[in-house]
Amino acid sequence: MKLERYGNGIAKGMLVTVKHLFRHPVTTQYPEQKLNISRRTRGNELIWQESTCIACGLCAQNCPQGVIHMKVENKKVVEMTADMGYCIFCGMCVEACPRESLYFSYEYEKSTYKREDLNLDKDKMLFAEGSTKRRSAYARPKIEEELPKQTLLQDRNKLKK
Ligand code: SF4
Ligand code: SF4
Repeated sequence: MKLERYGNGIAKGMLVTVKHLFRHPVTTQYPEQKLNISRRTRGNELIWQESTCIACGLCAQNCPQGVIHMKVENKKVVEMTADMGYCIFCGMCVEACPRESLYFSYEYEKSTYKREDLNLDKDKMLFAEGSTKRRSAYARPKIEEELPKQTLLQDRNKLKK
């Protein structure tokens, strides 16, 4: 009797396996195939636009993790660091900026072997005209048009490989 029940279990399990063999995949073949992420994603770097920054320090003051440090001289930011290893991506710094000078990046592939590589300095954060860095439209809807439209899983077959 027990053996019979055991056999039924195997048969049911195999039936599920066979069903899955013939159904369409619901995932993408990352990294060969990539979906466009949300335009408002909280990417894993901060991007700073010096030309519009008024050195008010609100971004650093509003960070609950103490990630951002800056040195201001003559109303200008002369040093700026952000240790993204401590960042919890809450978005407070970006939202607090009165001049829309701070952005999340649009990137998400930034894994690293060294902890120190997560530490950004002023040069790494800098966004200048013609920069190849892509800024996220998180809290910055005006720049949404610069970014590709988000692709959904149902559109995955249209993606270029
Ligand atoms: S996203 Fe949050 S934790 Fe990260 S730097 Fe900004 S305020 Fe700090
Ligand atoms: S909150 Fe904005 S304007 Fe103020 S220091 Fe930070 S980046 Fe500059």
